[in-house]
Amino acid sequence: MTDTDALRQDVAIANRILERMGLSHAFGHASARIPGTNTFLMPTRRSPGLAEAGELLVIDTEGRLVSGEGEPNSEFWIHARMYAAREDVGGVVHAHPPACVCLTQIGEPHRVVHNQGAIFSAGVPEYARVGLIRTRELGDLLARVVGSGKAAMMRGHGITTAFSDVRTATVAACYLEESAALQLRMLSAAGGDATRLRVFSAEEALPLADQIAGSVARRAWDYFAAVAAANPLGSGQK
Ligand SMILES: [Zn+2]
Repeated sequence: MTDTDALRQDVAIANRILERMGLSHAFGHASARIPGTNTFLMPTRRSPGLAEAGELLVIDTEGRLVSGEGEPNSEFWIHARMYAAREDVGGVVHAHPPACVCLTQIGEPHRVVHNQGAIFSAGVPEYARVGLIRTRELGDLLARVVGSGKAAMMRGHGITTAFSDVRTATVAACYLEESAALQLRMLSAAGGDATRLRVFSAEEALPLADQIAGSVARRAWDYFAAVAAANPLGSGQK
């Protein structure tokens, strides 16, 4: 298997993870930069749960279709402009996970309330504009909101994560949704009083940065990939 074949496999698995883990259903997508280029691999315009390695498109950061057959997802600008803005980014995930959407719509920022959520201790900025990212300009706007960070919450819409590779971006997206779901449950248990949450301090969060690195991240990816392989389409939907 060539490096490109292996990357294609990873992108297809990443997309299926988003659907099987309940982060997306008909919509959402994961992509990977082809290393050393301004192009990236992205699925055609259908559910991420149906992504196939052999059917991925190659698109460039100007939004041009370089190779592959079929229509790209309409929000491909999220990926194109994130890769254009950040040379260090090799993987981008965009999904519509329900707990994250809930947090945005009650005006609660993401807070670190469990170990894996600590990777977002620098905060997750909000892209407050409602609607889809279907233009280059809106892609640029979202990339500016993410800035040099790891992710953005998108009000009433979902999330975007940006990391060095597609595996990490996918694991991080799963962590962020798990964190948001726990935060909502804690808020509910606390009668909606956010001041009762025992949010991790920056000092407490710091040693947990390894939750998205090395063997921990590999273990998480292996698990999510196995879930995606073992379960049928739709099994992760809430
Ligand atoms: Zn979207």
